[in-house]
Amino acid sequence: MYVGAHVGTSGGLDKAIERGKAIGAEALQIFPSAPVQWKIRGWSDEDCAKFKETWPEHFKQIIFHGIYLANLAGESADNLEKTKTALIETLQLASKLGIVGTVFHPGSYTDKEIKKKDQIKDTINQILKETPSDTKLIFENTAGSTMGGKLEDLAFLIDVSSDKDRVGVCLDTCHAFAAGYDISNEVGYKKYIKQVDELIGLDKVFCWHFNDSKFGLGEKRDRHENIGEGKLGKTAFDLILNDSIWSDKSGYLEVPGFDNQGPDKKNVEILKTLRR
Ligand SMILES: [Zn+2]
Repeated sequence: MYVGAHVGTSGGLDKAIERGKAIGAEALQIFPSAPVQWKIRGWSDEDCAKFKETWPEHFKQIIFHGIYLANLAGESADNLEKTKTALIETLQLASKLGIVGTVFHPGSYTDKEIKKKDQIKDTINQILKETPSDTKLIFENTAGSTMGGKLEDLAFLIDVSSDKDRVGVCLDTCHAFAAGYDISNEVGYKKYIKQVDELIGLDKVFCWHFNDSKFGLGEKRDRHENIGEGKLGKTAFDLILNDSIWSDKSGYLEVPGFDNQGPDKKNVEILKTLRR
């Protein structure tokens, strides 16, 4: 497996490459824009072309994390339109950078479950239709209070997608644990993977997010912790990193960092040490 990390792009795309290299990351996740704004800012054509040419020399994979505002299941027509536009622009930008696509949190529940099924289906398929075929839309599991908390939610999202080759899931270790899947030990991890296989298919797992959890099993609180410092613990990462089914996949750190500056060399090193 490849140890990746989320890094900032302030100062430009080349700065993201520098930051990733400085902490020893083997894959990178970046935002296409400020994550709490609708507008996808992007970069100049020249910067995009330069990045597209340069990044493969240093990293196995680069992926976007979509803006936090996106919600496939929202109540407001205006927000739904903005969600669609933002995800379309994000995938168009991904194609321009030669990166794989975007991971994103799929959206809200209505009364703790997925309603608005037609809206969700139509939105996903419009996004797929209006974006380059070399990009992927990747649904992330959540900590449990929004869509994606249950593996069945992710299965539904894949199921309604018109182009199965262009959709997948990202499994976040903190979110899985917070949502009640006990991946902290071998028995629980094996059980989780069996469920993933049965409901979604292992081939649909595109990547992982590697985060420990500040809160306990099933507490539904989305608060990431440095690897080994949280309630999840190192065993989960040992199990994933050394499971041959993920050998060509990347796992991205989204941890606070030991100096509270985000994913750092120390967290990267801890994961690399666990990898055998
Ligand atoms: Zn995540």
